[in-house]
Amino acid sequence: MAEVLVLVDHVDGAVRKPTLELLTLARRIGDPVAVHLGPNAAEAAKTLGEYGATRVLARDAAEFADYLVVPKVDALQAAYDAVSPAAVLVPSSTEGKEIAARLAVRIGSGIITDAVDLEAGDEGPVTTQSVFAAAYTTKSRVTKGTPVVTVKPNAVAPEAAAAAGAVEELAVSFGESASGTKVVSRTPRESTGRPELTEAAIVVSGGRGVNGAENFPVIEALADALGAAVGASRAAVDAGWYPHSHQVGQTGKTVSPQLYIAAGISGAIQHRAGMQTSKTIVAVNKDSEAPIFDLVDYGVVGDLFAVVPQLTEEVKTRKG
Ligand SMILES: Cc1cc2nc3c(=O)[nH]c(=O)nc-3n(C[C@H](O)[C@H](O)[C@H](O)COP(=O)(O)OP(=O)(O)OC[C@H]3O[C@@H](n4cnc5c(N)ncnc54)[C@H](O)[C@@H]3O)c2cc1C
Repeated sequence: MAEVLVLVDHVDGAVRKPTLELLTLARRIGDPVAVHLGPNAAEAAKTLGEYGATRVLARDAAEFADYLVVPKVDALQAAYDAVSPAAVLVPSSTEGKEIAARLAVRIGSGIITDAVDLEAGDEGPVTTQSVFAAAYTTKSRVTKGTPVVTVKPNAVAPEAAAAAGAVEELAVSFGESASGTKVVSRTPRESTGRPELTEAAIVVSGGRGVNGAENFPVIEALADALGAAVGASRAAVDAGWYPHSHQVGQTGKTVSPQLYIAAGISGAIQHRAGMQTSKTIVAVNKDSEAPIFDLVDYGVVGDLFAVVPQLTEEVKTRKG
């Protein structure tokens, strides 16, 4: 069976969920071969094997941390040359898209970015993209070279399927351009202790109805009671009430949690584009005509400052 390269997204060997999704999709078109760049390959390989990686091509090098993306492109290209895969799948992060694009140029292949699904086709893998604020769904196929595809988080539920996950050292020689842009400093973002927005099973989002940064703790308290991530509408972000990294929607992040709670959000198409595939949607809005109610599984017409704290207390009580 053909092999499919999957570039691993990990933090010091802890494999992130989008990679498990890529492995799940890769199995539809071939045998997944993971490419692990950085430390702790053996630890990562356990997880990668559980989700179907037959092999894990691993390389640790100072270059990956010291310079921007080019060393990783060199390594992914080395894996490509070694494997001759049927396709290359990369997570749709900012970094992932740059790596994928550079690889596609180097190997003379077509690239599809931000796919939300992928299936086998007679003439190669067929991808699905959600475009124009999710108003259209398109299906496309790379027609030149080996398909390079970046896949958005939450495209598919990860499914375990045990495979060998055998670690093999990947030989890479870094080109001259690898050291072209040096990372000169790093400042870790302060951790909130909450799950990552795109990976969270539950997301609680606040909009213009929250009416000020000083009121966002109302949203955060419900999120913490539920073990959820906090999201925000663009109106809330543009007003400076919450960081842009939490914006959900067309120009923010796409989330697809089990439960999405929207408080004080009207449900504009650009917001829906980032959350409408959530499994269960709940909205709290004081306007019964708000468009978000067309989308919800459960809607509460009411003032969020009355409803959300009660919900938080109820969740806490039930959790004991
Ligand atoms: C190109 C483009 C890209 C965009 N990208 C995004 C994006 O990525 N994400 C995004 O979110 N938006 C995006 N937008 C903006 C989008 O069109 C809306 O303007 C935005 O989503 C509105 O945010 P909101 O729902 O918080 O505010 P509003 O539309 O002002 O809605 C506020 C809601 O809160 C309710 N409310 C007020 N007070 C209370 C209360 N006390 N209790 C309960 N409910 C209350 C109101 O009834 C109202 O429904 C984009 C727009 C454009 C043009």
